[in-house]
Amino acid sequence: MTLKEKIIGIPRALTFYNYFPFLCGFFTNLGFEIILSDPTTKKTLVDGASLVVTETCLPIKVYVGHVINLIEKGVKNIFTPSIQSVAPKIYNCSKIRGLPDLIRNVVKGDYNLIEATLDKSEKNLGLMEFLEQAVKPFGILDKDKIKAALKAGFVLHNNFKVMMQHNLTFEKALKNAREGKVVINSKDEETEGINVALVAHGYNIYDKRICMDVFKKLKDLGVKVFSALQLTDEQLRDGINTLEAELYWANQLEMTGAAGHYLKSDSIDGLITITAFGCGPDSLMIEDIKRKSRNFNKPLLNLTIDEHTGEAGFVTRLEAFCDMLYRKKRAGTRFSQEKELVYSSSMSS
Ligand code: SF4
Repeated sequence: MTLKEKIIGIPRALTFYNYFPFLCGFFTNLGFEIILSDPTTKKTLVDGASLVVTETCLPIKVYVGHVINLIEKGVKNIFTPSIQSVAPKIYNCSKIRGLPDLIRNVVKGDYNLIEATLDKSEKNLGLMEFLEQAVKPFGILDKDKIKAALKAGFVLHNNFKVMMQHNLTFEKALKNAREGKVVINSKDEETEGINVALVAHGYNIYDKRICMDVFKKLKDLGVKVFSALQLTDEQLRDGINTLEAELYWANQLEMTGAAGHYLKSDSIDGLITITAFGCGPDSLMIEDIKRKSRNFNKPLLNLTIDEHTGEAGFVTRLEAFCDMLYRKKRAGTRFSQEKELVYSSSMSS
């Protein structure tokens, strides 16, 4: 059966934070209307958590909640891809790989699951095939049109990345990219405070509810925050080499790659990693990052989140860490000034 209305619902969760700019350019070019689920609320969390086993990681519970939100908004076609492998022998976790199966089994209702599989470790399951699968239910079979839409997707994605690299917020970069604009902050504000790198999956830091708006909380503490989305692919790969890590996980670039880059950056005072409780890949990557970070003499704080994480405890740990970074920085400045004084006085004697 061919679906008549070119309307597609996209859950504002998980891979949304990595691939939505591309998907937005792609579907819009083909004449689709895109409906996003609403930003995460307590209800999203409760709805999602009620349908899966307790041990499931928070981002998956949130994803399920967003699918329910789309159904409640009356959206009939819900895009739920299975992103198996993003490069030969580079895989996602089993939960992201099996997302369509999970949704089909736990979310009942009157909707069509628009599935597509990306598996670059297999033949004939590359990006073009993935996109063909995504639009086939709507009767779109013209490969030239799909290729043109693919290009439009990359244009929007690249514009979004350029703006992120010039320190626009996620929301502003996405809004501008969707409006076909590229806005660049002309001057990178110098900060007298401290610079911190947030090392985490996009869905764990850009979903304000999941991370309790960590960007704002750090900004309020006078901290300038950096993340993987501000780095180029080359910088992320270089970060992997810096930590001598072996690439296996699809999202390892945004964790280990970003950590490697920021650990060796002189302008970064400390790293905060945020991981979801029960995440297998993260526990492996974080252990590796923690072990190797000792060579860089840079403080690192690891925060684990789940649906029960209390905001007060979260803030206290952020404050204590930033306070320590401020003290360390002041001591370092004093130390270097003292060194300079000693040096100048020995010159004059
Ligand atoms: S990578 Fe971890 S946090 Fe993300 S979906 Fe998989 S298990 Fe959950």
